[in-house]
Amino acid sequence: MDELLKKIDNGYTLKKLEEMIKINSVVGNEGELAEYLKGELVKLGLNVYLEEVEENRPNIYASLKNVSSGKKLCYCGHLDTVPVVDGWDTDPFQPVLIGDNLHGLGSCDMKSGIACILTMLKAFADSDDPLEGELSFSGVIDEEAYSKGAKAMIKSDYLRPDVIILAEPYAGDSTKPIPLGITGKILYDIYVRGKAAHGFRPYNGINAVEDSAKIISNLDKLVFYEHPDFKKGNYCTLKIEGGYQKYSVVVPDYARFEVNRLLVPGETAQAVVSDMERLVKELCLKSTVEVKIKPPQYEPYVMDKNEEILTIFKKIYEEVVGQPPLFEYASGITDANVFSGEANIPCLHLGPHRGLSTLKGGGTHEKNEYVNIKELPLYSNMYIKIAASYLNKKI
Ligand SMILES: [Zn+2]
Repeated sequence: MDELLKKIDNGYTLKKLEEMIKINSVVGNEGELAEYLKGELVKLGLNVYLEEVEENRPNIYASLKNVSSGKKLCYCGHLDTVPVVDGWDTDPFQPVLIGDNLHGLGSCDMKSGIACILTMLKAFADSDDPLEGELSFSGVIDEEAYSKGAKAMIKSDYLRPDVIILAEPYAGDSTKPIPLGITGKILYDIYVRGKAAHGFRPYNGINAVEDSAKIISNLDKLVFYEHPDFKKGNYCTLKIEGGYQKYSVVVPDYARFEVNRLLVPGETAQAVVSDMERLVKELCLKSTVEVKIKPPQYEPYVMDKNEEILTIFKKIYEEVVGQPPLFEYASGITDANVFSGEANIPCLHLGPHRGLSTLKGGGTHEKNEYVNIKELPLYSNMYIKIAASYLNKKI
């Protein structure tokens, strides 16, 4: 193991991170970063495969060549970043080091995670001592939108991992505890159809806008399942439309609104659609109401506390960081909702973030995003130890 850890090249990690920040990979535009990673992984001597998910938006899959039978461990990162928000003090596509903080779009979410994965793969590729099983990398598109990359990956024949480590910025400290499960979500798309009439004689029509308002003001009567760890989900009305395009005194015969609903494990999309239909029925409205759902939709998941990768992770985290990791049941969405929620592959989030001591502004999806570069070696180190331990490397 010591021999492997000595191969951690921190200069390489930083160089790769800076090069990746310079490549614009705002969601929808992941092609160039995939090509860059392909070049890098081929140089490291891995088998590499690009899989087009949409035009010029490929996922990239790579695995170490010395594969033997055994378990399959995949380290995964998303290639995309969010779009540039207003107010950056530096060029978001130029890495700028201020103290220990490297600023740039995607520096934290999650090009630093990918840089640490590359560093780990480089160390294993340089080692003559083979692993038992398969160690792979996947870079997926579209995490910041619809998770199309993750959805394509679980259908792909190229990688069939037993376990995934997602290099998202989860540090296991009080600012970013490691998720032991994540809520899912659906988006209700509700169509309300009434009957037009002269607005001075509303009794001759059926007002779709007013009926929509009745539904929305009764949403607290939806029934939320209480999960022992997550507690209850929630709802939020996000959009409503209806009524005239150009001013006219007409009873509106159409309205539509969208409601986000968080799901906890134990709740399914079908069950919560039925719940909304029940609520609507109980209101006895005159309008005809159609309850649909529209993308994006994510399944909730919860991790088995006895999962082997968790046991390995806890031991190694404590060794490297010097204290036990903190966990949480999170509300939010990551590609783990696809990997674990849809494909039942256990998924551990672990990746560099801003660093406790420097936590001020510049978070993910914010202006001036940064990562604390002093943290990077810790993650390269943990990635190597976890892979070696999970894949029974003789040490
Ligand atoms: Zn991310």
